[in-house]
Amino acid sequence: MKKHAQAVVIGGGVVGVSVLYHLTKAGWKDVLLIERAELTSGSTWHAAGGMHTINGDPNVAKLQQYTIKLYDEIERISGQSCGVHVTGGLMLAGTQERLDWLKMAQARGRYLGMDLEILSVDEAAKIFPLMEKQHFTGAMYDPIEGHVDPYGVTHAYAKAAEMAGAQVVRRTRVTGLKARTDGSWDVTTEHGRVHAEHVVNAGGLWAREVGRMVGLELPILAMQHQYLLTGDIPQLVGQPEQLHCIDFEGEIYLRQERGGMLMGTYERAGVPWSEHTTPWDFGQDLLPNDLERIAPSLEVGFEHFPALGTAGIRKVINGPFTFAPDGNPLIGPINGLKNFWVACGVMAGFSQGGGVGLALAHWMVDGDPGADVWGMDVARYGSWATLGYTNAKVRENYSRRFRIRFPNEELEAARPLRTTPIYDRLSAENAAFGEYCALEHALWFAPPGVAAKETITFRRSNAHPHVAAECHAVRDAVGLLEISSYGKFEIDGPGAAEWLTRVMANHLPAVGAIALTPMLNDRGKLIGDFTMCRLGQNHVFLIGTYAAESYYMRWFERELPATGVIVRPCATEYVGLSVAGPRARTLLQTLVRDDLSNVAFPFLSFKRMDIGMVPAMVGRVSFTGDLGYEIWVASDYQRALYDLLVTAGRALGMRPIGARALNAMRLEKSFGTWAREYRPIYGPYAAGLGRFVDLKKADFIGRSAAAEEKERTDGLRLVAFSVAAADADASGDEPIWHDGRVVGAVTSGGYGHSAQASIALGYIPCELAAANDGFEIEIIGARRAARRLDTAAFDPQGLRMRS
Ligand SMILES: Cc1cc2nc3c(=O)[nH]c(=O)nc-3n(C[C@H](O)[C@H](O)[C@H](O)COP(=O)(O)OP(=O)(O)OC[C@H]3O[C@@H](n4cnc5c(N)ncnc54)[C@H](O)[C@@H]3O)c2cc1C
Repeated sequence: MKKHAQAVVIGGGVVGVSVLYHLTKAGWKDVLLIERAELTSGSTWHAAGGMHTINGDPNVAKLQQYTIKLYDEIERISGQSCGVHVTGGLMLAGTQERLDWLKMAQARGRYLGMDLEILSVDEAAKIFPLMEKQHFTGAMYDPIEGHVDPYGVTHAYAKAAEMAGAQVVRRTRVTGLKARTDGSWDVTTEHGRVHAEHVVNAGGLWAREVGRMVGLELPILAMQHQYLLTGDIPQLVGQPEQLHCIDFEGEIYLRQERGGMLMGTYERAGVPWSEHTTPWDFGQDLLPNDLERIAPSLEVGFEHFPALGTAGIRKVINGPFTFAPDGNPLIGPINGLKNFWVACGVMAGFSQGGGVGLALAHWMVDGDPGADVWGMDVARYGSWATLGYTNAKVRENYSRRFRIRFPNEELEAARPLRTTPIYDRLSAENAAFGEYCALEHALWFAPPGVAAKETITFRRSNAHPHVAAECHAVRDAVGLLEISSYGKFEIDGPGAAEWLTRVMANHLPAVGAIALTPMLNDRGKLIGDFTMCRLGQNHVFLIGTYAAESYYMRWFERELPATGVIVRPCATEYVGLSVAGPRARTLLQTLVRDDLSNVAFPFLSFKRMDIGMVPAMVGRVSFTGDLGYEIWVASDYQRALYDLLVTAGRALGMRPIGARALNAMRLEKSFGTWAREYRPIYGPYAAGLGRFVDLKKADFIGRSAAAEEKERTDGLRLVAFSVAAADADASGDEPIWHDGRVVGAVTSGGYGHSAQASIALGYIPCELAAANDGFEIEIIGARRAARRLDTAAFDPQGLRMRS
């Protein structure tokens, strides 16, 4: 084993070898993979090897497409067969809702370049004769699905990497990791020590243990997973290989294995494996079978595919593999641990391993993953993702693997975990709660006597009229909204102003004022959108997206000077309430001594003031687009503040409002939001944030790329549409058509109650951004006429928020 390497990858499962291969491809040849046993000695060896392109996150779906296309390349380079069988795949719907879901998946596939086809039951049965037609309502066909040989794939990656100069060391366990002061690592193994500039944790089933070597507790849990192989099935003799098949209602997947079928299930009562510690002596082992546990799925399977029921069971496999709470991988660098990377929690290694390796290698070599990997970024989890939380969410996610997640559906596991001091007050107001970063927040309020329970649906739900009433309260009088779930940072120190001027694209506001600003990476792409509230010359209260707190901190840490600037995340220290609507000023003025007139405290002002006895920071800004104030207080004052506002608001017709109403109002104002409209694949001009980029500033990160983007007449533009929707609004990811072809995708959508219009935001090519007509948005299989709006659907001049 060599004594020094540019990068050491720990773990020779399908993910580790993919990272190794992609590092060599990206130009790092002095790289070493250390595997404690033989390659594939974790989850990889007993995988069913299935691969597919569909994923709930379109960006992850793109990386899955990449993975599947990669097998030819690594076979060609290495000479090692990957055992690729591209059989095509069939997804069977057993209900109308599932068929709707398939139509939506097909629609999304259109702008991802996927060739998906909706089939009738008869058409499906023609190409998959094992199915019993009466149980199904329709199907979707995907020509690019199939399976691979896990051993072949892993060895092909490894050989291709070795041919490019990488070294693979087997039968050597990494036992310790120690950081040097220069950010490089001493990697201790059973057979000596290696000095590495970078370390990658691709430990799969042992990723938690490898993480603990550096004091990191990764939100990962392994679940037991069973599949069985049937005996030979006479109908398959002499037939071409059967398609891959997912039966959503049966919650099972199928594929042919020799003369029989392989059938697996994600059972509802899934069982975790090694909840706290993975034993090091577990290797190419299997777990005891427990057919009882999957009996309900098997019964349905045998009913839906009768030939399987009579073929007998030849073999049962029960093996563990790991999941993050949302089922997507965890990749990227770890804050505070220089040059330490993770590539773990990959639950579909044969669909995702290539994309994970590609993105991570680019990230390590170029400083940027080269793709939008927010859905896989390890930074999407904060300290709230404890092992207990992870355990509850992973079980839930596993049990729901083949269930529909409706756009308005809130999941129940691990709740309530985090609550703000007014949680019981909001409960008493009949709030329907949602969860965000494990924090409870009100979505909408049911009137007295009405259950605060939303029907889950692709269409407008029972909450629709109640959300409408909340929106009208804001537009006509005043609404009270909790805004605690925003991300917050306090930035100070003698160099704070200068630092923010360099890190943010807009100029700093004057002391006592607010400025909105994008944050750009070196390539001029959006990596944040913030509200900067300037409290002093070198003191700024920064508001952004809470889910991206670690993501932002990673960038801040990269850019922070050794001394002179302190950035302190303080999301939970300060909680917030917002009052918005034409009577908001009257309301707040009764509680403060400061002059709130439009002259004394205009739009985008920020000031410390006492509200009654409560010390607060108040900003004259509102995401509703109405006259409004955001009020920030230490959490121990929140109840007092809430009670004060509620009492004073009574005479003014104030009512509590929730996140659904806020979303409806920001849509009719065409306001974008992080992770929907604003993502690291878009520049600020494409995203309509150009007015917040101050190119007059001498320099800031991403300036030259932004200046270039400003002059461009190609690329994409974020635009708003009014949609001739029926009973369902766009919710995100729907294709946008123009003159009969797909030209873009919706980023978010909903109903604007004041504008009385179904609204959708989305990106389309620049050359179409001046057209108003000829657009359609495909909602649940129906193309709805859409008119591009030149201005926001509500208060286009923005007079209300400024008055
Ligand atoms: C029954 C079953 C069926 C499955 N079916 C499919 C399927 O059809 N399609 C699909 O895409 N996925 C499937 N999977 C999931 C798939 O197996 C995983 O996504 C994939 O194997 C994860 O690979 P990995 O490299 O992250 O982890 P692992 O395969 O667990 O690899 C980790 C490696 O790291 C090594 N290691 C750990 N710690 C150290 C250390 N300290 N020092 C040195 N080496 C170390 C281990 O020995 C191991 O070889 C299935 C899984 C199971 C259990």
